[in-house]
Parts: sequence; C-alpha cells; structure tokens
Amino acid sequence: MKIAVLRERFEGESRVAATPETVAKFIALGAEVAVEEGAGTGSRISDDQFKDAGAAIGATAAATLKGADIVLCVRRPSAAELKGVNTDALLIGALDPYGNEKDVAALAKAGVVAMSMEFMPRITRAQVMDILSSQANLAGYQAVIEAAAVFDRAMPMMMTAAGTVRPAKAFVMGAGVAGLQAIATAKRLGAVVSATDVRAAAGEQVESLGGKFIMTEALKDASGTGGYARELTKDEQAAQAELVAGHISKQDIVVTTALIPGRPAPKLVTKAMVESMAPGSVIVDLAAERGGNVELTQPGKVITHNGVTIIGYTNLPGHIPTTASQLYARNLLAFITTLIDAKEKKLAINWEDELVKATVLTREGAVVHPNFAASKT
Ligand code: NAD
Repeated sequence: MKIAVLRERFEGESRVAATPETVAKFIALGAEVAVEEGAGTGSRISDDQFKDAGAAIGATAAATLKGADIVLCVRRPSAAELKGVNTDALLIGALDPYGNEKDVAALAKAGVVAMSMEFMPRITRAQVMDILSSQANLAGYQAVIEAAAVFDRAMPMMMTAAGTVRPAKAFVMGAGVAGLQAIATAKRLGAVVSATDVRAAAGEQVESLGGKFIMTEALKDASGTGGYARELTKDEQAAQAELVAGHISKQDIVVTTALIPGRPAPKLVTKAMVESMAPGSVIVDLAAERGGNVELTQPGKVITHNGVTIIGYTNLPGHIPTTASQLYARNLLAFITTLIDAKEKKLAINWEDELVKATVLTREGAVVHPNFAASKT
C-alpha cells in the first residue's frame, strides 16, 4: 500500500498534506510513503525531515505518484498533474468541487476515486477529520492578527501616566468556527467585541466568549441543515442590513466570515457601510474566496477605501502554514486510518460507511456525489 504526497502547485499555497509526524504514522500502519521533492518547503519541512520519518522523496509528481493507492493533496490537482496515477487510486484533499464541476468530471475521467474532505459529516466520530474546522479556526485567529498589524492604534485599553487609551471595537460577522476564534483572539488582544450571526444558537457561544451578540427580532433563526446557515429571504436580508448599518459605523475592526454551503458568500457590508466607518478602520473579509461578504472586497488583495483598509486574502490558513499543515495532515491521517486494515496492512474501504459515502465525489469513471451527479462524464 503506497501513499503519495504531492507538492502543491496552486499559486500561494504554502501548506502540505502530510508532515513527518503523519508520515511516520502511515508507515506504522503498514504503508510506504513517497513525498514529492520540496512539498514541505512552504511549511518549513525539509525533504530530509520527511526522509528521516521514513518517506521516499519523488523528484517529480509522476515519480511520486507511480504505483500509489492513495494520493494526498491540499488543493485539487489537475487531471494532467495526475497523469500516470493508478486507476482507482484514492485522491484525498480539499477538492473544492462547487463551481469546479468540469474539473471534478476530469478527475472521474482520470479514473481516481476523488474524496472531498470538505464534505466530512459534522458528527462526533468525524470531528478529528474536519478540515473545515481546523482551517477555519486558524483563519479566524489569523484574521485578527492581520487586522492588528495594519491597525494604527492599540487594541486594548491602556491606562498610562500619559492618559487612558480607549480599547478598539471589533465586530465579527458570522459566529461559526472562524468567527468564534476571531472573537476569542480579539478579546485576548483587549478589544471590545460584538458579533452577529443568523443562527440563534450562535448567541450563547458569542456571549460565552465575552462578546456581545447583535441580532434583530425580524431575523429570528436561519439555521439550515447540518449546523450550517440557510440563505436569508429578501425581507430578512433587509432587516439584517439595517441592523449592520446601525452598528458598523462605530467599529474599528470588522471580521466577516459568513458562508452558506454551495452558495456564493452573502453580501453583508455595502460600500455605503464602509464609507460610514472612520478612516483607519480595518475590515478582514474571510469569505473573499467565495466572492466576499463585503461589496468592495477584491479577492487576494488589500485595498483602501476612504481610509478603511479591506483585507481580502483568500488563504489565511496559508499565512500560518506550519500550524495549518500540522492540523490538516492530522485530519487526513485520522480519515485514512479508517480506510486501512492495519492487521493486513492494506486498504479496506467500507463503501457504505457514512464518512466514505459523504466524501466520495468520483468513482469508476463517473461523478457519483449526489450534489454533482448531474455532471457525470
Ligand atoms: P460556515 O463556515 O458555513 O459559516 C460561517 C458562519 O456564517 C456560520 O456561523 C453561519 O451561520 C454564518 N452566516 C451565514 N450567513 C450569514 C449571514 N447572512 N449573516 C451572518 N452570519 C451568517 O459555518 P461553520 O463555521 O462551518 O460552522 C457552522 C456550524 O457548525 C457552527 O454552529 C459550528 O459550531 C458547527 N460545527 C459543528 C461541528 C461538529 O459538530 N463536528 C464541527 C464544526 C462546526
């Protein structure tokens, strides 16, 4: 049983799908591991460290993939990068299928079993495999760090001999995994924190972290399935916009994290709202990769509008790659452990397991996931 770890080719991707720690554990499970040369560079893991953990180093993607039963990645590789891969090899990573249906169909054609870690069910057993949570948690932390770095005032209240400095006001929109970590981080830095969400259940969590929950009666509860939010109706959107407009103008730092699975990010902050904020304020839009929560966000860029900085980085976990890779690699290890018969030292996939059923996108040359089955090859 061979596991291959590819070097990421997606621009700006600094993470890697395995670490020396997970390589050693795969080997203990009876696998042989090949890591592509330079795969760990962005996360400060050298080829020698992978070698010391027991991996072979492949000079090219093709050499690394040769004979592999499992291919690990962070971003979805193109079908061309997978040239020469074994038919029926498992391709496991953050495959980002929504909006990329053609690429998913190409993976089906390439013959791999593509497994999208984003679809891991949010059940207790799979918490350890939840890449969305491990990476969103880091993104929430990093969002506040990035904001603090460009904010030209102090965050905490300071009582000094020269007088008192008032604390910064931080507002977090979307109190899921990333938002809750952003709240906690902003609190640790001494900001006065408020937050909003469309799921009523988020209120208690915000308050338990010392944040003030901002919600309007008209919004009630927009909880959808699986713990996620549903899209708001037009009336609900208007009520939310009114609530936000009244609050945002008094904020120094805003972190937006609102997402709806499979949909573009909801637009929550208009140009007029940005213009109501004081110059020097900072917005970090964690939803930039899905189009952004802020009307003015330019994905991948930092812009200034009327003195307000809007940070639209699309890969914040990639800004702390060493920690992000460590947790991501452990998520993958936990899932793959369920696919291996450690006694026999070979793959033993239970295709009826709910974790497998939820994550398999392609199999036997076809797109099989119910959300994408229409795009069969
Ligand atoms: P997400 O990334 O899909 O969305 C981020 C947040 O944005 C969510 O809290 C969502 O409610 C909110 N949102 C959506 N539309 C909004 C709008 N118009 N205005 C304001 N906020 C809006 O969500 P997530 O971080 O993945 O977490 C979703 C839920 O799942 C949370 O309750 C989380 O605690 C829960 N969760 C459970 C498990 C588990 O049980 N294993 C694991 C992770 C997360």
